[in-house]
Amino acid sequence: MDQIRLLFLGTGAALPSPRRMLPALALILDGQVALFDCSEGTQMRMQQAGLSPARIRHIFISHLHGDHLFGLPGLITSQHLLKRSEPLYIFGPVELDLFLQTVHQVTQHQASFPVVVVPCTPQAEQIWTLEGFSVQSLPLDHGPACFGYRFIEHDRPGKFDADRARDLGVPNNDLRTALIHGETVEWNGRRIRPEEVVGPAQRGRTIAYCTDTRPCENVRILARDADVLVHESTFHPDQEMLAQETGHSTSRQAAESAVAAGCRQLYLYHISGRQDDQSEMEMLESARSIFPATEMPQDYDCYSVLVREPL
Ligand SMILES: [Zn+2]
Ligand SMILES: [Zn+2]
Repeated sequence: MDQIRLLFLGTGAALPSPRRMLPALALILDGQVALFDCSEGTQMRMQQAGLSPARIRHIFISHLHGDHLFGLPGLITSQHLLKRSEPLYIFGPVELDLFLQTVHQVTQHQASFPVVVVPCTPQAEQIWTLEGFSVQSLPLDHGPACFGYRFIEHDRPGKFDADRARDLGVPNNDLRTALIHGETVEWNGRRIRPEEVVGPAQRGRTIAYCTDTRPCENVRILARDADVLVHESTFHPDQEMLAQETGHSTSRQAAESAVAAGCRQLYLYHISGRQDDQSEMEMLESARSIFPATEMPQDYDCYSVLVREPL
């Protein structure tokens, strides 16, 4: 894919406020969207941002606390009314299926398109290979079953330079295929190396999404060497005890995980409504003193994930 952008649709926690809405993150991948969590009002915020919910192909739900989930039935209903026919794949805890079935049963409403619920298993890591990317899930340390995700864009082979190949007289046959696959070939008594006609491969980008959680080993596994870590930061560093008791993290702990994982960029997310301008600034400064490449996005902030150096 050419462009990957992160659109923060909601960056708050627990209680919505005009200051920060509840958590939802859209990963915009060229023509399609992968949505991480779907709090109430997510579809409205997508409209506000000019992003059609029809573009969503995959939704990844971290856990079944309402602040991460209650936008899902509304979004499905609207897609039905808009005559969607494309399937929608929703990943999350196993009980997600029961939740959706119950809503549909009670409201006597069945979507006109396939809604495919894919359960994450708490026992082991899972990796799904999808079109252009893979996604890995691992359980986090929150309380109820809660999963973090690692989005992995597939590496892309380098572009074949047809003009250069023609100049070298390489015929349009198996030899070209071999060159594209990195093999050196012989033609007319000359050795032609793949790098003469094929540009550098593009390394896939990785994005880890970890909310809600205390600091834990699985965050470090999901975020290892990632381009981006989106990590919950519910509390101020002075509230570490409270974070521990409630299954959350402080901004400082998020930064420590970013350092331990060796990732490149940290976005602080899932900010408690108890924070004000002053405490949010302190949270950000405290994180930056540990991991300088830290941002605390506002709702609707959008960031590009840059392509990495060639393989
Ligand atoms: Zn939450
Ligand atoms: Zn939660």
